[in-house]
Amino acid sequence: MDRFIEGLQPDLQARLKHKDFPSLKKLIDKAELIALAIEEAQTRNRIHAVYAARETTANSELARVVEALDRLNEKVEKKAATHQEEVERNLELMRKQLAQKQVQFYIPNQSFVTQPGAFKRATVFCDFHNTWGTHTEANCWVKQQMP
Ligand SMILES: [Zn+2]
Repeated sequence: MDRFIEGLQPDLQARLKHKDFPSLKKLIDKAELIALAIEEAQTRNRIHAVYAARETTANSELARVVEALDRLNEKVEKKAATHQEEVERNLELMRKQLAQKQVQFYIPNQSFVTQPGAFKRATVFCDFHNTWGTHTEANCWVKQQMP
């Protein structure tokens, strides 16, 4: 029995030493049970280790995701702020340009703007004069004065 115990793994030896077994068979049965228990515990430990590692990985991945989201949000907020500033700048610029245009068009040529039709009469062709102008051959006073 002692030799049997000495042939076992240190873990098993520690659990079987200094105990009395009625027979070698009982000792072997006990050794097997303990071996199974140890193996089971080791397996459980390995599984726990795997789970722990997986959890850590998951957590660090989650942390990375959260970090990435934070960065993205920051970027979006910055961009939104920049965009808002840009919009305001553009609006200001448009307002200025519009004011300048109003000065350019309305004040010196107000009549032109308010009565565009008066100056925008389409040119017509006079066959008598053979030119483009303000009258047609039917309205041509030069032709009408001809004998
Ligand atoms: Zn004419």
